[in-house]
Amino acid sequence: MKALVKENRDRGFTFKETEKPVPGPGEVLIRVRAAAICGTDMHYYLWNDAAEGFSSKFNLQFPMIPGHECAGDVEEVGSGVTSIKKGDRVTLETHIPCGHCFNCMNDEPHNCQNMKIYGTSCDGCFAEYAVAPESIVFRLPDEVSYEDGALFEPAGVAMRAVERADLLPGDTVLVSGSGPIGLLTIQMLYSSGAGKVIATDLDEYRLKLAKSLGAIAVNSAKENLADVIRRECAQRGGVDVIIETTGAAVVYQDLFSYLRNEGHIVTVGHPGKPVMINIMEAINLKGATMRGVFGRKIWGTWWKVASLVKNKKVDLCKVVTHRFALRDGNQAFEQVPKGSGKILFTDFS
Ligand SMILES: [Zn+2]
Ligand SMILES: [Zn+2]
Repeated sequence: MKALVKENRDRGFTFKETEKPVPGPGEVLIRVRAAAICGTDMHYYLWNDAAEGFSSKFNLQFPMIPGHECAGDVEEVGSGVTSIKKGDRVTLETHIPCGHCFNCMNDEPHNCQNMKIYGTSCDGCFAEYAVAPESIVFRLPDEVSYEDGALFEPAGVAMRAVERADLLPGDTVLVSGSGPIGLLTIQMLYSSGAGKVIATDLDEYRLKLAKSLGAIAVNSAKENLADVIRRECAQRGGVDVIIETTGAAVVYQDLFSYLRNEGHIVTVGHPGKPVMINIMEAINLKGATMRGVFGRKIWGTWWKVASLVKNKKVDLCKVVTHRFALRDGNQAFEQVPKGSGKILFTDFS
């Protein structure tokens, strides 16, 4: 079969013929129909510090087929698989839980203590075929396309951020960053009852996408965000909720000043280094809560995403800006910094 392969620490992937995998006990074989590029894949493409850190934490071994956001058809199931059958249309969770640690046994398998990561700890989905353990396979509703299905995983991160924010109807929300996760978050917020969403970025291309999704789009390099928030949240004294998706450490200098007293901050982006926070001013005196997101509730978040997509309350493909054939994989990754929302692979020949 054809696949994109990370063979060593050099920049780029190799598109090559590899062996078609065989599903072992408890595994399923999927014919991949759509796959999406995630930030992690981009780190592996470039092989930067983040790739070095993530790969050692989750035991990446070369050569490895990257990719974890996908949808396709189950072509074969290994022995012992009971919940999935040949012909099912499916997508995949990225976090592979062990099933027996404290978190797994307490309804928190998404943050398992012995977690493996699909497309890092094992081969992923940038290939004609992919194998995955049954425990991470989610069946798609019939009405959901492969392309939407390939976006369930990142959409689940956005949904999880909204869950963690304790969003209430009518809330005004600041989404820091309008990359793919920020854009998906805007959709999840509106479909979950947010009154108004203010979205920031430095990239006009992404701000245009944020605006098309109904957000008040602010270029924080050109406009004064504090003024915008004062205008939009006059009586509240700030936004009810902030969802931070950029992972840019510099954002935190002013972030808490935009939050109203008793507001909630959810952090999704990973700053690659420690961030200074004035706990007294930013958290205590505000009565603020701050929470992190790592993955999606298995399977609670997935069912919410499936319902919103199936009932057309969100249109995940609105964040898709480019489609490539897998054989042009390196070109697809070079497109990311040139201006893009979500990029899909839709041709695996
Ligand atoms: Zn992802
Ligand atoms: Zn576990």
